Amino acid sequence: MADFPAAEFTREQHPAPTANAEREAVLANPGFGKVFSDHMVSIDWHEGIGWHNAQVGPRKPLVLDPAAAVLHYAQEIFEGLKAYRLADGGISLFRPDRNAHRFNSSAERLAMPHLPEETFIGAVRELVLADRDWFPNVEGGSLYLRPFMFASEAFLGVRPAKEYKFLVIASPAGNYFKSGAPAVSIWVSQDYNRAGPGGTGAAKCGGNYAASLVPQAEAIAHGHDQVVFLDTAERKWIEELGGMNLFFVFDDGTMITPPLGGTILPGITRDSLMTLAREEGLSVHEQLYSIDQWRDDARSGKLVETFACGTAAVVTPVGHVAGHDGEFTIGSGGPGQLTTKLREKLVGIQRGTVPDTHGWVTRIA
Ligand SMILES: *Cc1c(COP(=O)(O)O)cnc(C)c1O
Repeated sequence: MADFPAAEFTREQHPAPTANAEREAVLANPGFGKVFSDHMVSIDWHEGIGWHNAQVGPRKPLVLDPAAAVLHYAQEIFEGLKAYRLADGGISLFRPDRNAHRFNSSAERLAMPHLPEETFIGAVRELVLADRDWFPNVEGGSLYLRPFMFASEAFLGVRPAKEYKFLVIASPAGNYFKSGAPAVSIWVSQDYNRAGPGGTGAAKCGGNYAASLVPQAEAIAHGHDQVVFLDTAERKWIEELGGMNLFFVFDDGTMITPPLGGTILPGITRDSLMTLAREEGLSVHEQLYSIDQWRDDARSGKLVETFACGTAAVVTPVGHVAGHDGEFTIGSGGPGQLTTKLREKLVGIQRGTVPDTHGWVTRIA
């Protein structure tokens, strides 16, 4: 077991935790992001002092000054990762070092302070141990962890804040999809972009999500499940969904995912699946792929599968796409073979039922 420094957390038990019966009812049907565990972690940062006041305590509303900079200029970043209950009763995280590292990349882009990676992982671990009774007892369940940081300084001038709060909250999560993953239908955004060169597309910040809500609502209004964004310069190259990366699988054993490069969020699921696909013998390329090529390849049958990926839903097959010049179907319109295989492999590694040959699984209990 990796040994993370406890970073001098003070620990306070919730004085009135959720009653057993109520918690069990929640854990039998948790959904996603609707209910939260009893505790939270918080750490403060002040200029001149650095990180201090690390606590694991009862989850409760925050007290914020109405002038808190985050409420005005959106200086906020977050992460998302899952803790898994193992067959032997232990608990593991999947590549938490990558989340800790990406958190700091996001912090740099948003002019926020660096959080030591061991403090990030230590904070997550503290919360999971405090709320270890909050694992769902449904198949495919996990404890979803949401670390985030925001500017708490009361100041309306425009500059990086001098005070921040880092918090971690936890939410029991069910299986996104009960039996296998149904294929989703995707709408190609015509009027809106997610990220441009030099913007914040590679940072996991709330602002990116705020900007994606209208195009996502537009996708729903047109009868689709998700929106896919194109590049801003040529409006031609496929980038990603509002919160998931994309992969394209071809009949000759190649697989493509759009290259990073500032406008795409570097997904940990994306990175893991590239490794697993190569092990399956696929030739994997980070390569530009255009919306026109996507349509032509789907129609000719050269493209056999497309899937989206991210921590929350893991792997989601894409069955239908609606672009500016009509709709097209990918493969049979349902989950493809490789999509299903990669999903099972990754989920197996995460849950400890498939051997972890990459050192991705971190046991914390
Ligand atoms: C979080 C996120 C992803 C997926 O990243 P994972 O590390 O795989 O969870 C993809 N795109 C966006 C925009 C994201 O915010």
